[in-house]
This record gives sequence, structure tokens and C-alpha cells, in this order.
Amino acid sequence: MPWKAETITLIGAGLNGPLLALELAKRGFQVEIYERRPDMRRVPMSAGRSINLALSTRGIYALTQAGLWNAMQRIVIPMKGRMMHSTASEITFQPYGRNESDFINSISRAELNIALMNAAEERGVKIHFQKRCVGIDFKNDVIHLQDEITGEARSVRVNVVIGCDGSASAVRGEMLKRTRFDFSQQYLDYGYKELTIPAAAGGKHALGANALHIWPRGNYMLIALPNVDQTFACILFLPFEGKDSFELLGTPRSVAGFFESRFPDAGALMPDLVDNFFANPVGSMVTIKCSPWQVEGKALLLGDAAHAIVPFFGQGINCGFEDCTVLLELLDRHGADWSTVLGEFEIARKENTDAIADLAIENFVEMRDRVGDPRFLFRKKVELALQEKFPDRFVPKYSMVTFLRVPYATALKRGQAQDRILTELCQDIDGLNQLNWSKAGKMIYQLLTPLECS
Ligand SMILES: Cc1cc2nc3c(=O)[nH]c(=O)nc-3n(C[C@H](O)[C@H](O)[C@H](O)COP(=O)(O)OP(=O)(O)OC[C@H]3O[C@@H](n4cnc5c(N)ncnc54)[C@H](O)[C@@H]3O)c2cc1C
Repeated sequence: MPWKAETITLIGAGLNGPLLALELAKRGFQVEIYERRPDMRRVPMSAGRSINLALSTRGIYALTQAGLWNAMQRIVIPMKGRMMHSTASEITFQPYGRNESDFINSISRAELNIALMNAAEERGVKIHFQKRCVGIDFKNDVIHLQDEITGEARSVRVNVVIGCDGSASAVRGEMLKRTRFDFSQQYLDYGYKELTIPAAAGGKHALGANALHIWPRGNYMLIALPNVDQTFACILFLPFEGKDSFELLGTPRSVAGFFESRFPDAGALMPDLVDNFFANPVGSMVTIKCSPWQVEGKALLLGDAAHAIVPFFGQGINCGFEDCTVLLELLDRHGADWSTVLGEFEIARKENTDAIADLAIENFVEMRDRVGDPRFLFRKKVELALQEKFPDRFVPKYSMVTFLRVPYATALKRGQAQDRILTELCQDIDGLNQLNWSKAGKMIYQLLTPLECS
């Protein structure tokens, strides 16, 4: 059916906003975005805000639907597995999956954001920069904006408003004032800081380029993702306070000493470590769950605004882009019947976004504490062997989340059953040749149906 000419107003030109905007514009809507920050294509970004992202199947699917993925090949680097670095600088490689196609893609957040904004504008989307949303009057369909340079206040009438304004969403803040709005936020007592490994002499990557590098150290870790300019974007995750924490790294000497003893190989590749360390802020990480995501078919939360998650499954934006896919499918099915579309959107997504939030916390513990543990590595081997033998039933949780578009809630549920199977099978053995295949088969057929996925 022809789309009703209508203006859709988005708050936030981060990652989800421009992708959704361009898809809505394709469908004939007028789309306006209000963004509080300056245009990053014209103004340099503030330090420590250029963290890389791992893009995987769900995100790639949405970008492909939007016709953008092919052109993005020049700004992504495939990462085929985890490269673990021990304190003694020994390296172990753990592939992400058993297929050639089982890799994730490192992409600079800024490059992705720019590509999305360019594509949205080419489709006629108008992005108003340095306009902060400071309030919404749901009764009178009005949003209140403040100009970040002049301080001037302005109100704009809206038909439908979508909050793509991230984990500290102002749109959600307005919904929170309404009755019966459920909201929970849970901060990790860990923070993160961005650091850089520059290109090596000769302009090459200083470490293997096609891996996500991890320095797991029990209760903290460092990771590094490759960039196309031959640098690595690193993220240091540490507790805010206590032993081995940001609190204790207050001087150049303490920072240099910490890296020398804990991450000697990485530290040796960071000539500007101390300057970087003190120039970049410490970020916090939060899980946010809330409901309902919509108000009377005219306002909606999407992406981090609806469901911020901690970054340890590399799924925040993949999940946000999947939100866009689902919302657009509902729009294509129901037309501009916004009450139906927004209501069904939350029903389709909430259970799944809650599930990925829980999986992300689980993966935090796995990456931090377990990827360096020999028992864990053995369990991973058994997992791959079971997948090899029972490919339609036993699919590792990581693969379901990262390489397939299986609903996250299904991945969580099946993952729990598979964990039980692995625990049982691995408990008294330390080699694949000791694996009890008949017990494995029995348990798998009993607990897992064939996996249906796209
Ligand atoms: C350290 C770290 C690593 C991560 N790694 C990964 C990864 O590997 N893979 C992955 O998939 N995800 C990752 N994520 C998660 C990912 O960054 C987020 O899920 C994603 O950015 C959410 O997109 P969004 O558009 O919903 O929000 P954002 O990208 O936060 O964009 C929100 C936009 O809204 C604007 N805004 C906010 N308030 C207002 C207002 N009042 N008025 C107007 N504009 C406003 C902001 O300026 C911003 O531009 C990571 C996150 C962190 C912190």
C-alpha cells in the first residue's frame, strides 16, 4: 500500500538513528533527526570516543538490506578468532567457529557512523546537529529542543517520535515520568578506557590483523581490535576501585609499571601509552531494561535507549540493527498503522533483548576469567567436536548469537541446555579421545531439537 505521507522524528544520529532513518525515507516518509552532538564529519571527535565495534551477522543483515554492506568492505577487517596473550607473552589462537565464514568484523565506530549519516542524507533525511531533546509533551505531540550553541529553546510538533538516543535516552527519561513504566539499570563495577597500538614500522599491523586480541587476567583484561589504518583500537577493562583498578592508576609511573608487569607485550607496542591513558576518559557500562517501549503508537524507544547492554558479546549494535530490521518488517506488513507496529515490535523484541543482556553479562565472565583456562579451552574443543558431529542440533551459543539470526532468547535457552551437556561430558576426561559419544548423542537428542534458523 502507498505510505501515508508523514513525518517521522528521530532523536539521536548515533548508529541506529541514521540506519532507521534511511530505511524509513526509502519507504516514502519524511524523516528528521535531532542530534545533540556536532557533526563529526566537520568537527574532530572528543578523545576516547572512537572505540571499534565487532559487526556480525545480525548487523550485516540489516546493512545488506539497506544496500550499504558491500561498500563497507573497505572499512572492515575480518577477525577469525580470539588471540589470547598470556602474561609470559605466549599466544594461543581460538577460532570463532568451524566454517570459513565464521568471522566477525572490526569497524571503526566513527567510520560506520559517517557512512550511515551520508547514506541517510543521500536519501533526503535531514539531520539537525547540536539540537538536544530536552523534553517531550506526549499529550500535545510536541518535542522540546535546545540549541547546544546558543541555548535557544524551540518546540516542534511531531507525528511519530523514535528515541534512538542511546543508553542515557532523554525520550526514555520522559517515559519514566509516566505511570507504570518499568525501569532497571545495573552498572558494572568495571570501567573501560580506550588506548591505541600504532602501526608498526613499515606501516603494518603490530599484531596479527585478523583476530580479536585478548589479554585475560582473571578479574580484568585488555582487548585490541584491528583498524584499516594498521593501528589497533584497544580497550582496557578494569574495576573502578580495589586491587588492579583504575583508582590505583593515578600516576604515569603506576600506569607504565602496571603494563610492564601485566601486559608486557602490549605495553611494548604502545609508545604513547601514558599520554593516551591520561587523555582518555574512563567509561562506565550499564545494563538497562525497561517497558513499555512505546506511548500510544506515537513514541518508541529503539536500540540502546530501550535496552543498553554491556559490550562483552559484541552485540549492542548488532542487536540495535536487528531492532531496525524487525520494525521495518512490521511496517511493511501493517503499513503506517503505528499502534499495531509499535505494539508488535515490543512483543517481538523484548524477550530477545532481555536475553542478550543476560548473555552479555555471562560472556563478560567468560572473556575475563575463563578464556585463558586450559579446562575452558578443552570444553571449547569438545563443543566444536559435538557441533561437527551433530551440526543441526548442537550449535555453540557463540555461533547462534554471532553467526546466525536465531532469536536471542532461543540462543540463551539452548545454550543453557548445551552447557549442561558439556559439563556432564567433560567432567572426568581431559582428551577428545575419551569422549563418550553414545552418551553425547543420547543427551543431545533428548535435550535439543533441530535448530531452525535463517
Ligand atoms: C566499550 C564499548 C564497546 C562496544 N563494542 C561493541 C561491539 O563490538 N559490537 C556491538 O555490536 N556493539 C558494541 N557496543 C555497543 C554499541 O556501541 C551500542 O549498542 C550502539 O552504539 C547503540 O547505538 P544507538 O544508536 O542506540 O546509541 P548511540 O550510538 O549511543 O547513539 C545515540 C545518539 O543519540 C545522541 N543523543 C543522546 N541524547 C540526546 C538528546 N537528548 N538529544 C539529541 N541527541 C541525543 C547521542 O549524541 C548519540 O549520537 C559497544 C559499546 C561500548 C561502550
